[in-house]
Amino acid sequence: MREDLVRIFGGVHEDVAAHAGDMTENEPRTPAFVVEATRADQVPELLRLASARGVPVTPKVTGLNIGGLAIPAEGGIVLDLRKLDRVEIDRHNMVAWIEPGVSWARLKEEAHKVGLALGFPLAPPETSVLACALMDGLSTMALAHGSFGDWVHGVEAYLADGTKVVTGSAAMSGRPLSRGPLPDLTGMFLNWYGGTGVVTRLALALWPKRAFREREILPFKDIEGGIALMRAGARTGLFDDLGGLSWPAAKWAFGLDRLGPRDPNEPELYVIADYGADTKAEMKVKEERLRELAPGAPPIPVAELLALAPDLQPFAELPARLGFLMDHEGGGLTWIGTFGPMERLEEGARAGMRIVEGSGNPPLVVVRPMKGGHYAVLRFIFRFDKARDTERVRALMVELGRALMDLGYVPYKCPATLYEEVARRIDPGFRALMERMRKAIDPKGILNPDRWKLP
Ligand SMILES: Cc1cc2nc3c(=O)[nH]c(=O)nc-3n(C[C@H](O)[C@H](O)[C@H](O)COP(=O)(O)OP(=O)(O)OC[C@H]3O[C@@H](n4cnc5c(N)ncnc54)[C@H](O)[C@@H]3O)c2cc1C
Repeated sequence: MREDLVRIFGGVHEDVAAHAGDMTENEPRTPAFVVEATRADQVPELLRLASARGVPVTPKVTGLNIGGLAIPAEGGIVLDLRKLDRVEIDRHNMVAWIEPGVSWARLKEEAHKVGLALGFPLAPPETSVLACALMDGLSTMALAHGSFGDWVHGVEAYLADGTKVVTGSAAMSGRPLSRGPLPDLTGMFLNWYGGTGVVTRLALALWPKRAFREREILPFKDIEGGIALMRAGARTGLFDDLGGLSWPAAKWAFGLDRLGPRDPNEPELYVIADYGADTKAEMKVKEERLRELAPGAPPIPVAELLALAPDLQPFAELPARLGFLMDHEGGGLTWIGTFGPMERLEEGARAGMRIVEGSGNPPLVVVRPMKGGHYAVLRFIFRFDKARDTERVRALMVELGRALMDLGYVPYKCPATLYEEVARRIDPGFRALMERMRKAIDPKGILNPDRWKLP
């Protein structure tokens, strides 16, 4: 195997242990080989070889998905895609063809050069846009335009036997202008975490770069007040994003590490409002509407807050590295994120916070109306000590997962920790179809086989 990999890639990396685990509670697994692609045509060659030998392949960019999703199969191959980083932008139709290694920082720069823009996750600037879109990630434009899965107009991918597939309108015209009107095979690659193929190019919608932009923070004394604003604001169609973060995020951002209970005078939820416009008059309408919707929580422009509190810089200009989540003593970070009903947000947030606090963790919750208010995201984030608390965190994830699924929330970037709960609830026909599709595309089971391995 080694000689074949050297022939295809010019060498193999020896640091297999560095790819065994990630920051989460998910079980580490050590690959046998790590190879780095520098050309897309190496991907089908590898997949043909791996299929012939029955060796699992896990595609990976930076591995910072916080769901254990790039943890390889034991004894498999990690395919490092960081060096595939070409970007091609069609500015007339506002779409970018991107390779897996294209980072948020890079796509922002390229898009701005042609008067276009995109939304950002609260993720480090070097992480992969393509992988985030494949995982249906969320951004500072999620209220206006939905999750990143909705932004995908098509992909170019390789199946396990090395067959190349192009989906979306590009399948016929070579131009990725729309997801339809052909049958939607793009969906075969979304939320599978590399389990159906390796995507070498993805077409991502971009949006006009507005002349004026504002980001404001609205402090709410309770979660319910903040959610009421989000619900009303979502339906106006005026805002790109209304995302809420609970009080521990602010404390950690200010460098306070060990948090006690919340001071009753302290806001419980901070809503971050993002919006933009091309004229001052349009901007004024949005500003005023936001103030009308939240009379008791006057918005504070982030730029003004920064003058008082420079520690809040990561919230001002995205993409940014949230050091308070990534660089703490203990090194563990995980979350459970879900898509679910708008009308149960308060109930879901409260139920989850009770469970998180009961386990001795600060209740860091993220709430967000999506796609004009058609559904909501509810996410709980924990930092933990990897050496000491991994087992406890696994149990907490399961308890929380159960409570959220009981309220109709469906996990995204679904970690293996939750597979048992998912298996118990998923439609049997859906599950059988997933298995049949996978078998048909990948009969030897080499494509990131531990993902969606439901018990
Ligand atoms: C502190 C922090 C905050 C974050 N906040 C957010 C947030 O607000 N919103 C959000 O959406 N995300 C968030 N993220 C996650 C982040 O945006 C994504 O992890 C990232 O953009 C995906 O890139 P990656 O390099 O981590 O992908 P990886 O972890 O390398 O890959 C992710 C998955 O995709 C698969 N994969 C990778 N490349 C391919 C390919 N070419 N073909 C098929 N499958 C592939 C992998 O096998 C894996 O299953 C956050 C991450 C951190 C660390």
